[in-house]
Amino acid sequence: MSNNQIQLFDTKSRKLQIVESSDGKSLRIYSCGPTVYRDAHVGNMRTFLLGDLITRLAKHSGYQVKFIQNITDVGHMSEDFVEDKILAQAKAEAKDPYEVAKFYESRFHQDLKSLNINAADLYPKASGCIPLMHDLIKKLIDTDHAYVGSDNCVYFSAQSYQGYGAISGNRLDALKPGHNFEYTEGGAKKFHADWALWKAAAGRTQMIWDSPWGPGFPGWHIECSAMSLHYLDEFVDIHLGGIDLRFPHHENERAQSNSSINNEAVALWVHGEHLLFEGRKMAKSTGNVVLVSDLISKHLDPLSLRLCFLENRYRSQMDLSWDSLKAAHLLIQRWRDKTATWAKDKSLDKKQAQGFIDEISADFSADLDTPRALQKLRSIEKAQTLSDGVKYEIFKCVDDLFGLDLLKPSLGKGELTSDAQSLFDQRQIARNKGDFTESDRLRGLLLKVGVVVRDSKDGQSWEWLI
Ligand SMILES: [Zn+2]
Repeated sequence: MSNNQIQLFDTKSRKLQIVESSDGKSLRIYSCGPTVYRDAHVGNMRTFLLGDLITRLAKHSGYQVKFIQNITDVGHMSEDFVEDKILAQAKAEAKDPYEVAKFYESRFHQDLKSLNINAADLYPKASGCIPLMHDLIKKLIDTDHAYVGSDNCVYFSAQSYQGYGAISGNRLDALKPGHNFEYTEGGAKKFHADWALWKAAAGRTQMIWDSPWGPGFPGWHIECSAMSLHYLDEFVDIHLGGIDLRFPHHENERAQSNSSINNEAVALWVHGEHLLFEGRKMAKSTGNVVLVSDLISKHLDPLSLRLCFLENRYRSQMDLSWDSLKAAHLLIQRWRDKTATWAKDKSLDKKQAQGFIDEISADFSADLDTPRALQKLRSIEKAQTLSDGVKYEIFKCVDDLFGLDLLKPSLGKGELTSDAQSLFDQRQIARNKGDFTESDRLRGLLLKVGVVVRDSKDGQSWEWLI
């Protein structure tokens, strides 16, 4: 526990702001979650890590945290995509859309686990919160912030909310008519920048619900307003998401939520920047998509991805590469080996260790200056003036912020897959018999599955090829 004030950059005020619990009890955090129609790529994981870093830091600093992340499993329509993504994927996979959503949701949770991203307190699903959305839409209609269009869709009236544009800097009078806002609505909207809160089914037969305005399905933005207001008791201390959600998603969410409670609903808007991979934008269309499972199949510790993210400020665009992932993998291994050695020294100057722990917490509290915090770890590792016991204590205590499992045995000492273990055992038998031709053949086979074998006077040993 430390007494650092946590500062984060607020996109709306464009300033660093001190994080505060508005009810004096807990810090209420909301993060936009995945749309579960495909695997989240490592760029998405960078945004999801942001929520984990902030909740870890808040807990380390003594806060109670209530953290909610939604799962979009229906109705997500973006500006350039007029078909529901989950229904389109269900069609492509010839599966029930709920099955598709369930499958990718479970993969999402697996990926979070691989990256040591602690689970949120709750993951409400859009499909499970339809009544909440109906209630909010009714309230917005009753207060003249929304209206039913001639196409039986319900639209939010952008002009009814005076503060529109504060997050993104987009002013309503500057938004040009003709820009494809979410849907082609055939003239049912009163103003070009209005957006749909509820879409009439209009021939769609799956993933639709009855409503006071006829059968249909919710728009994407209303989902986050309904869930954040409901689950966090009508106020959000920190609202998180990727920078691409700043407009229109967060701008629209803010207009809806603020109109509903007649007040500012979110204290801080925090956005994570984009990720490039090998210098290029990550996009399915260009084939440049990397998943957490791709790292695992290359025998890279998935936490090497976490370490690479920590090497960069969350607000800077970063360029990830296989080389940086490999370097991070080796660094994690080296630190784990060292902590295992340092643990043997039982002498400890607690006060000295605490000084370094506080400095590292302060780096995290300064708008998540994780590169500086990592630089401190590197200096501590090399410092000749610090005892092994002190180094162990520091690494042990700050790992709840970094989340790199620094006290685990290093990976090379982990387990082989059963196939590789069998080849490794056969090679031992060949060596015992002096059959070096067979031993070399088996070494080649092991190399093909990513295992490097070394021989020494103590026998054969192995490590992953990375
Ligand atoms: Zn959202």
